[in-house]
Formats: sequence, structure tokens, C-alpha cells
Amino acid sequence: MLGRLLVGIAVTLGAGSARAESAHGHDGLGGATPTRGDGPRHVVAFTFDDGPSETLTPRILDTLAAHDVPATFFVVGRDLAARPERRAVLTAIVEAGHTIGNHTFSHARLTALSPARRDAELDRLATLVEEATGVRPTAVRPPYGASSPALRAALVARGLTEVRWNIDPQDWVVTSAASLRARLVASIIAQEGGIVLLHDTKRVTAKALPGVLADLDEWNCGRVRRGQEPIIPVSLHYFMRDADGPRPIPPEVAARTERYRDALVTRCEGD
Ligand SMILES: [Zn+2]
Repeated sequence: MLGRLLVGIAVTLGAGSARAESAHGHDGLGGATPTRGDGPRHVVAFTFDDGPSETLTPRILDTLAAHDVPATFFVVGRDLAARPERRAVLTAIVEAGHTIGNHTFSHARLTALSPARRDAELDRLATLVEEATGVRPTAVRPPYGASSPALRAALVARGLTEVRWNIDPQDWVVTSAASLRARLVASIIAQEGGIVLLHDTKRVTAKALPGVLADLDEWNCGRVRRGQEPIIPVSLHYFMRDADGPRPIPPEVAARTERYRDALVTRCEGD
């Protein structure tokens, strides 16, 4: 029923990637090789851990929408069942065309748990997200970055994908939005993109993000004017690899990226 409703909405609005995928009930990220943002260059995927926050996540969604930037939110389940207003943030994330990932139900250190408790941490969160959004998350970010060969094997066996990061501006330590902004933009440029780790539970992050996206846009414009490759904000699909190579990008995801690139070129030439 929800699936059919989403199909209707997607057709009506000519909707973006995540909504089109929601219609099928999967996010296209499952069962891939663990990734830490290496591989493709000149693309950057923003990820936000530890939410949803009823105050800060909506602010971050507004900023992302203003810049037409997709993101992934690795959420935890604490209080989700008891708080409908928090579940509504999950719905807003998916309706805005973003992706939700699994950060476990209680922010558990998965490597310290028995297989049964580990699986329960992942399943409980996934079921809550699926009930709220119609999509079962298949990308997993282990809390504390705590992973192991055994955990990786267990995730693979369950059709899940471990997603780490290569860009960490340490927004859980930094208290100045200006320094977070400068540090993050410099790191994205130095590494030519990758997967960015942020937290949508941190006020400093919500405060810094508009400037980060504005700076990236300005730097990209300079690149475009010089005929160089910009660093395009994308969803995590661009970092998915299977045993036989990079996973094909779903057409609706590729179309969104092309729209962004076209808009960037138009915007920069107009300056
Ligand atoms: Zn976390």
C-alpha cells in the first residue's frame, strides 16, 4: 500500500532517486564490498551519524535542499518507537530524496556483542526505519568505527554493506563553525572527494554546513571556468563495489548527478 502510494508520488513529481527507489522498497546499497570512500574521485558523499535529531536534522535537510545535495543519514533507534515526531524526521529524510543507513538501535559496539545480540541491534533499527519510511536500510556504519573481519563477514552474509569514511573533520571535537567549515572544505579538496563523516546531532555541524556547501560551490565554479573537473556531491551509490568491480549507478541516481552538474555549469557561467 505504502509502496503503491510512493509510486504514485514519484510519477506525479518526477521524483528524485531515493523516492523512486523507495517504490521498490530497497535502497540499492546492500551486499557491496566494504567502503571507506576510496575508489572514484571528484565525487563526495556527505553522511550524518547518530540522528535523527528533531531540531538539527530538519535544519540540515533545509541546507541540503537549498544546494540540491544528496546525503545519507546513519540513524540510531533510541526513542524512535516512543516519539512519533522523531519518526517523522525519518520520513522527511526519505521524502527529500536522501538515504537512511543503519547505525544500530542503541549505538552499540558491534564487535563486542554475541552474534545474536549484534544481529538484533541491526534488525531492530532496520525494522523501525522500514515501518516509518517503507525502505529497509542496507548500508551499515558500525558505531565507533569498530569493525573486524568477523563483523564484516556477518554483514556480507546478511546482504548489508559496511560504509566507513575517508574525510573526518572531527565535528564531535571542533566547537567553532568557522574552523569546522575551513577544515572540512580543505579536506574534501585535498582528497578530491570521498565519504564525509559528520553528525546531525551536533549544533556546530548544522551551523557550518551552509558555508561548507557554499565554499565547495565556489571552488567548483573556479574549476569549471578553468575547464577542470569539479567535485560533485553525490549519494553513496558512487562508492559501491562488488567483487567484479564498481556497481552500476542506478539511472535515476545518475540523472540527479547530471542535473547537478548542468546546474553548476549554468550557475558558474552566469557569474
Ligand atoms: Zn555514532
